[in-house]
Amino acid sequence: MSRYTGPSCKKCVKIQQKMFLKGTKCHTNCLVDRAQKAEKEKRFSAGGKRPNKQSDYGKHLREKQIARLTAQVTEAQFKRFFAKASKDKGQTGAALLRFLEVRLDNIVRRLGFAVSLKASRQLVCHGHISVNGRCLDIPSAMLKPGDEVSINPKTAETLLVKQGLEHAEKTTQRPSFLSWDAGSRKGKLVRWPDRAESSISVDEQLIVEFYSK
Ligand code: ZN
Repeated sequence: MSRYTGPSCKKCVKIQQKMFLKGTKCHTNCLVDRAQKAEKEKRFSAGGKRPNKQSDYGKHLREKQIARLTAQVTEAQFKRFFAKASKDKGQTGAALLRFLEVRLDNIVRRLGFAVSLKASRQLVCHGHISVNGRCLDIPSAMLKPGDEVSINPKTAETLLVKQGLEHAEKTTQRPSFLSWDAGSRKGKLVRWPDRAESSISVDEQLIVEFYSK
């Protein structure tokens, strides 16, 4: 599966918004901050010229890209998620965000096994994560309520995972659609996440319109 391996924050600059692809590092060390500062200075020296207004298409495209890049999936995968969401009984946009939220790599990140999606994908791809007691190494696998996620006990002792879990403990970032057992280091998806609990902040209606053009 092809995936983007270049500098994460180049994508942040393109979209002009932090997407936290590097996890917490993006709070302090994202190229967007530098680019926005440079842009301001440039505008100042150019006599206060405003940047070109974004087209309607550009607005829709940007929203779709934010969702796709934050979830770190390819265009083909994203389209597949969208097709699945449009078959859902409820609203397409909400279903899309729900499906992206319950991907195995994202659940691993939200449980605190890793601080960024990139790190959690690596844990999954390298076979450190089990679902319902069986190793599952597909980051894009969609979980459903009742699924239990655990980590290889040896991997759980590594510094990176320990740091992630400590961070999750400190910031209490675990959402309420996940239950967590600290003793066995097991997490469970207890229900479908709500729209408000999605980690992707976009106007999903714009994405729906983007694909229905
Ligand atoms: Zn960034």
